Amino acid sequence: MSTSLSISVTVNRPARLLTQNSEMRQIGVWNWSLPAWAGRLADGRTYNTCPSAGICAQACYARHGTYTWPVVRAKHQANLMYVLDNLAGWQAAMVAELGAAKFCGAWIRIHDSGDFFSDAYLQAWLDICRARPDTNFYAYTKRCPDSGRLSNLIRRRIFCGSIRMAGHRMPR
Ligand code: SF4
Repeated sequence: MSTSLSISVTVNRPARLLTQNSEMRQIGVWNWSLPAWAGRLADGRTYNTCPSAGICAQACYARHGTYTWPVVRAKHQANLMYVLDNLAGWQAAMVAELGAAKFCGAWIRIHDSGDFFSDAYLQAWLDICRARPDTNFYAYTKRCPDSGRLSNLIRRRIFCGSIRMAGHRMPR
C-alpha cells in the first residue's frame, strides 16, 4: 500500500506593500523597501538586492540601526520573497494597491533600501508606473541610467510614468 502525501506550503504575503513613517506621512510620500545589499532569507536562499553597490555598501544606513530590527528585516525580506517568488503577482498587487484614491497625486519612493536588482524587476516597476500615471514615483539607484541595458529600458519608457532615476543617495 502506498501513501501519498500532499504538501501544501502557505506563503504569507505582506498585507500592504507600501508603508509610511511619521516623517513620510507629513510630506505625503510612501515607501517600498527591500532588504539592503546581501543577505540570506529564512529558507536559505541568498540574495543581493544591490548588485551595483560599491563603497556605499560599507556605510549604508539601511544596513544599520532600525533596519536591522528583526521585525523590520522580516518585513523587507517578505517583500523581497514576494518579488522573487511571484513577480507577476507582486506587480498586480502593487498596481491594485496603488489604485486607492489616497495614491492619486501621492509620491512613491521606490526603495527606501535596496535597488533594482534585475532587469525583470526594473521592468515590473516601469510597467507599474505606466499603469498608474496619476501617481508620482521616484527612485535612487546605483544602476546608473547611462549603463547599458538599463539605460535603454529607461529611455524607452520614461514617458510612461514619472519615475525619476538618480545616483543613489549617500548615507544620511
Ligand atoms: S546605499 Fe543603496 S545601493 Fe548602496 S548598499 Fe545601501 S541600499 Fe544598496
